[in-house]
Amino acid sequence: MALALALILIAPPAHAAGLGDPIFPNDGNTGYRVTHYALDFAWQATKKPFEATATVEAEATQGLSSFTLDFAGNQLREVTVDGAAATTKRTGDKLTVTPAKALAAQQRFTATVRYTADPTLQRRRSDAISVYGWIPTPDGTVVYPQPNGARLIFPNNDHPSQKAPISITISTPADITAVATGTLKSRTAIAGNRVRWSYDSPQPVATQLVGLAIGKFTVTNGTGPNGLPLRDVVPTDLVQQVEKYRTRTPGHLEWMEKRVGKYPFDNYGILVAHTDLGVALETQTLSMFPEGDLAGSESSAEKDMIHELAHQWFGNSVTVRQWSDLWLSEGHAQFYQRLFAAEKGWENLESKMREIYSQHDSWRSTYGPPAKPTEPKLFSRMVYDGSVLVLYALRQKVGAATFEKIERAWVAQYRDKAASTADYIALASRESGTDLTAFLRAWLYDAKTPPMPGW
Ligand SMILES: [Zn+2]
Repeated sequence: MALALALILIAPPAHAAGLGDPIFPNDGNTGYRVTHYALDFAWQATKKPFEATATVEAEATQGLSSFTLDFAGNQLREVTVDGAAATTKRTGDKLTVTPAKALAAQQRFTATVRYTADPTLQRRRSDAISVYGWIPTPDGTVVYPQPNGARLIFPNNDHPSQKAPISITISTPADITAVATGTLKSRTAIAGNRVRWSYDSPQPVATQLVGLAIGKFTVTNGTGPNGLPLRDVVPTDLVQQVEKYRTRTPGHLEWMEKRVGKYPFDNYGILVAHTDLGVALETQTLSMFPEGDLAGSESSAEKDMIHELAHQWFGNSVTVRQWSDLWLSEGHAQFYQRLFAAEKGWENLESKMREIYSQHDSWRSTYGPPAKPTEPKLFSRMVYDGSVLVLYALRQKVGAATFEKIERAWVAQYRDKAASTADYIALASRESGTDLTAFLRAWLYDAKTPPMPGW
């Protein structure tokens, strides 16, 4: 009896699904930490299903008799854990994996998931992001995983706080190009008149920021400030159309580095996609722009380009810890976009801020305060311009020089990490030598917009 009881007590617990995020409580999974993702896609043609393998290397943070991955749609083939067949069950967006042998706490393991990917899988939102998931193009695809659509593309721990390095290998017909987040490691001809492309990102990537595009592209390699390798990917028939704006990235990088410090990744570039999606995406190291974004006026194209570039520091290198911290990502990207536009003389920052201020109370009641957003309007005017106003208020309070010190310290201290609103408040207080807790919490959480310092 005593022995049986002891065995029950030490039996490893099953997973508990969902990290309890305030916006998406079921997203992400507990009981393990992913240390690396490797994807291997045997691409065929636009909208055509293809064979895919996702290899998830992880470390158990507790004893586990089973664990879950976020995975939606697609046709599951087989899952192994450390090479042994595992039992699986799919419920909603969760794939439960029961290894043949339970995992001990701290045990490193490799889960390999084989599936037939469906490159037409999409979901819809009723905010700034209307469609996400796989975005088919006339000759291939791009992906738009934000906010929680990476599970439509590969099985993973789908929460920005759970980022991990990733390597992506894609085989394509020989006349098709595949690009992905990270650096090209090899391009090899293989049987069947096909080519295998391998990319690697040693820096961790949030699942929602994994970039991938397949199609008839022209890839232009160049060099940015301090020798940073640049790679731009443009549909071959749009090369002339976007050339004017594409070549401005080195100047944009110089402008950002002057304000916040060195670019945080190994390469950068823009990806123009044959899609009429309404919004661009800061896919890591390779910002994605729908073709229309770079076809209009100088101010609209460059504002977009600065926004996605600024995200590489704010949102990508320093990731949000919870979705309610999204203002830290979108607010900063939008702040540098507005600052750039003001320096160019395209808009006046103070009058823009006064205009936003006049609407702020109404946005607070419609979308929630900046750091307490609500679903389904997560990507709202509050998280963009409404959050610029918070950063502007902080700059008014501490002065431009101290504000810049805070920003530089933020991206340096939390590089490659996830950080929260409380972390930003603490760092701003430390860097300014003033306790900004009450000031910032009022701006971020109160039902009414506080008075603007200096007005
Ligand atoms: Zn953004």
